[in-house]
Amino acid sequence: MKYQYQIRVSPEEAANQHKLTQAVSRHGGIALKDITFVNILKRSIDARQKAIKINLKVDVYVKEAFTEDKIYLPDYQNVANKEEIIIVGAGPAGLFAALRCIELGFKPIIIERGKDVRTRRRDLKALNIEHIVNEDSNYCFGEGGAGTYSDGKLYTRSKKRGDVDRILKLLVGFGATPEIMVEAHPHIGTNKLPAIIADIRELIINCGGEVLFETRVTDILVANNKVTGIKTLKGETINSKKVILATGHSARDIFELLHRKNIKIEAKAFALGVRVEHPQELIDKIQYKCDSRGEFLPPSPYSIVKQIGGRGMYSFCMCPGGIIAPCATAPGEVVTNGWSPSKRDQPTANSGIVIELRLSDFKNAEKNPLAAMEFQKQIEQKAWLEGGSTQKVPAQRLVDFTQGKISTNLPVTSYKPGITSTDLSEVFPDFIHKTLQEGFKEFNKSMRGFLTNEAVVHAPESRTSSPVRIPRDPYSFEHVQIRGLYPCGEGAGYAGGIISAAIDGERCAEKCVESLQNS
Ligand SMILES: Cc1cc2nc3c(=O)[nH]c(=O)nc-3n(C[C@H](O)[C@H](O)[C@H](O)COP(=O)(O)OP(=O)(O)OC[C@H]3O[C@@H](n4cnc5c(N)ncnc54)[C@H](O)[C@@H]3O)c2cc1C
Repeated sequence: MKYQYQIRVSPEEAANQHKLTQAVSRHGGIALKDITFVNILKRSIDARQKAIKINLKVDVYVKEAFTEDKIYLPDYQNVANKEEIIIVGAGPAGLFAALRCIELGFKPIIIERGKDVRTRRRDLKALNIEHIVNEDSNYCFGEGGAGTYSDGKLYTRSKKRGDVDRILKLLVGFGATPEIMVEAHPHIGTNKLPAIIADIRELIINCGGEVLFETRVTDILVANNKVTGIKTLKGETINSKKVILATGHSARDIFELLHRKNIKIEAKAFALGVRVEHPQELIDKIQYKCDSRGEFLPPSPYSIVKQIGGRGMYSFCMCPGGIIAPCATAPGEVVTNGWSPSKRDQPTANSGIVIELRLSDFKNAEKNPLAAMEFQKQIEQKAWLEGGSTQKVPAQRLVDFTQGKISTNLPVTSYKPGITSTDLSEVFPDFIHKTLQEGFKEFNKSMRGFLTNEAVVHAPESRTSSPVRIPRDPYSFEHVQIRGLYPCGEGAGYAGGIISAAIDGERCAEKCVESLQNS
């Protein structure tokens, strides 16, 4: 027999199969000897009280053998001779669009400006050590997209659990740990993601799809308001009546191209702020209300949302045990973001702390669709100048930041290119600077000890979501004006994060295939 229970246990019981079985036996009044296995289906940590509890949903096997549900990949077909669909961008949106095309019997041709996941590493090294930004290969551009060298956090605000589980299952099918199906806040880790991405690409190629690296799309060809193909920097033209455009939030040249060609785009509000780094030990102490987190709890995350002067201010993409990364996509700008390895075992915790911007914050946004992007770019360029015109970021200790004092010294932080002591009021417009200053004091009310000079503020965190929307029809998913063009993923303004981008990629592929089948 199999029973399902929701049970609250100690961190040690959750980590130890024998102790967990004993807890289940007590909870369910089942004789210990009769329990053959306890299989954890869902796990979340409740750290609200001093005695931390782990909430588990479990299947309990009683006098019955446990049979593991294997996760299989769909039956992908050979599509080498099938109708072609162009997909621009090999981020989560583009890759999952390609997989879905194959599943539905169409041949994807992925065109990616960056390099394959392994070769890309050299450019990241050059960025971290020599401060060289390769405009086609960096933390945002290259195989796997912006998500590849990330924390690989897989939570999403997407409401449709079925879609989320489908993407998680596919990731497990391509080699991610099955734990991602269990954790309330699953993550994969920067060290594990590249192999998964490479396996997805291998499958696409083995099924007859194509993946063209180091091929930047420079034009989208249109005749009579219908897409006819794309042109690349190398001068090649690839014809197709269907183009899925999944170029991400940092493809400024694509936004400029669409604007130049009078293809409708709109300015979009986004969030912007700083990335703050604390010692992980301090975050653990605050969150777990203890001197040391011990061996059974993971490095603690945090999540804070406040309203400051009518604007939302919140933690974004928090990376426990992580590293702050240089995420610029062009010379002359600095951008921060964060990542963690699968074990989250670095000594520092970092998080974006951002405030909501509104269209009215950008000059002429109702007339200029690039207004929000230009605002974002100006701050990144100002930060570059203030940091010392390299990839060093301007930085300030947290209390000094709230008090408007330049820090007389700064500790070494995880941000490899280095940091420069700066008054960050030089980087941000007054309203952003003041909101952040106020907000950090409010944050300290929710997390006593957060506001400390042990923490360092790095500026700016500016690529939280796309500053442009490429509008599409809500039913056909085609661009509102250009037939056959499918704006997709985060860059088009329809996703925010790895999972939602992957879901949107699948949906665009389905809509595109549906349209081909009906034509
Ligand atoms: C350091 C970092 C950490 C992150 N951590 C997380 C996390 O933990 N969890 C999470 O959910 N999200 C995270 N994100 C955000 C996440 O990566 C994005 O939301 C997601 O990758 C968006 O997917 P996408 O496919 O829409 O676009 P992208 O991933 O941006 O992919 C777009 C692709 O298009 C290519 N491209 C752009 N222009 C062209 C062109 N002209 N021609 C050809 N190709 C082009 C790019 O090279 C890129 O590969 C992180 C991002 C960064 C930078």
